[in-house]
Amino acid sequence: EKWETIKSELKNEFKSIIWNSWISPLKVIRYSNSVLSVSVKTELIKNRIERQYYEQIFVKSNVFYSNLKEIKFVVDEQLRNEQNPEKMNKFHSNLDIKSNDNLESENKISFITSVSKTLNKDYTFENFIIGQSNNLAYYSSKKVSHDYSINYNPLFIYGGVGLGKTHLLNAIAWEIYKENKRKFVYMSAERFMYQFIRSLKLNETLTFKEQFRSIDVLMIDDLQFIGGKKSTQQEFFHLFNDLIDLNKQIIITADKSPSAIMDIEARLKSRLSGGLVVDIMPTNNDLRIKIINNKLISKNSFLDKEIIRFLAKNITNNVRELEGALNKIIAYSDFMKTSLNLDKVKEILSDLLKSSDKKISIGDIQFQVSRYFNLTFSELCSKKRSRIIARPRQIAMYLAKEFTDHSYPEIGKLFGGKDHATVIHAVNKIKNLSFNDKIVKKDIEYLISVIKS
Ligand code: ADP
Ligand code: MG
Repeated sequence: EKWETIKSELKNEFKSIIWNSWISPLKVIRYSNSVLSVSVKTELIKNRIERQYYEQIFVKSNVFYSNLKEIKFVVDEQLRNEQNPEKMNKFHSNLDIKSNDNLESENKISFITSVSKTLNKDYTFENFIIGQSNNLAYYSSKKVSHDYSINYNPLFIYGGVGLGKTHLLNAIAWEIYKENKRKFVYMSAERFMYQFIRSLKLNETLTFKEQFRSIDVLMIDDLQFIGGKKSTQQEFFHLFNDLIDLNKQIIITADKSPSAIMDIEARLKSRLSGGLVVDIMPTNNDLRIKIINNKLISKNSFLDKEIIRFLAKNITNNVRELEGALNKIIAYSDFMKTSLNLDKVKEILSDLLKSSDKKISIGDIQFQVSRYFNLTFSELCSKKRSRIIARPRQIAMYLAKEFTDHSYPEIGKLFGGKDHATVIHAVNKIKNLSFNDKIVKKDIEYLISVIKS
């Protein structure tokens, strides 16, 4: 039944003459171990389908068969034998060799076999919460998902783990999928490289590259894993250039900016930066609270304000951990059928709280900020108002508010006895600058990373 639905949906994607002669006769044999076996009548049909239609069929099937990794097209021996009954015996005696042959040729199936990741239904734009730290990445992703003009090529999204890169990439893929006009491939860089290297070994790079010409959008997740030998990178670089020249939209995510990905060749770096590069910064408290609230709504659950604030303050590494913590709490309260208090939450999350954050102290923050701006501790906490001292002080206060539990008055006290209004002013000021001022934004990004590490 699934298969019939897939075929009927594919009807919209192919000319009817193609659909009738190539797609319609396909029959599913079985689905096991993530491999969908489909019977075809002849070798000719098999070749043709693998070469030209594999990707479309795969992407559609992917939606209906969860975890689908590969589609195998098997020439229908039964049919073949029926047509040539006199060959039956011969065939039997050759069975072993025959099936080895089959394996061989099946191993050479296009790269797209098993490369496209299954789309995650929850990773949509609707489910993505926007804040200062990720809005640029969000809007750029939104734009490329509907805009055909290919102004941002490549779109390069980078940021630390668990901050929503895969979520956004997946959301783009969904939009393109729903729109049903452009062909896309969405895969991990590792997978891409694996297939690519294999095609080099088999002397099939031409075929490999050829397959990309049939798609409109190429999405690669976690580019930092591409690394590899110089010669391979060279090849990749050429392919990548070709695709851009062919006006294929390319969207890439990575954990670092193009210039910071260590192993990649300089030329490739600069070409990667040639489109639009956007980053996702660590979340701030506001965004974490929004994400928690949103998740509670979608799960139809409720937590005390106090608990929500506690989670947002303490599970700061990334969104993935935050979601994990929340799921654990919700599961627990569903199971116990009671509402939770803060102590219980601390108990439930004790492992996570211990490991996730080595508690950041104001001292850590002051130390790192002074070092970064080349100030002494007493300068940082002095009353001096010159900008080269006041700005770092404000940044340190801001970080203290974001990453510790201290109140405004406490922070003031620990910065040489400032009053709480000064601290509030500083926090707001830096919050704004981190949004509007590129340099401050970079300073903070850097400081957060060293404070946390
Ligand atoms: P990355 O690929 O950057 O490591 P993911 O995209 O896998 O991170 O995100 C980790 C988890 O956090 C996912 O479940 C994702 O849905 C969630 N997440 C991250 N950012 C957001 C956000 N802004 N709004 C909602 N969920 C988010
Ligand atoms: Mg990811």
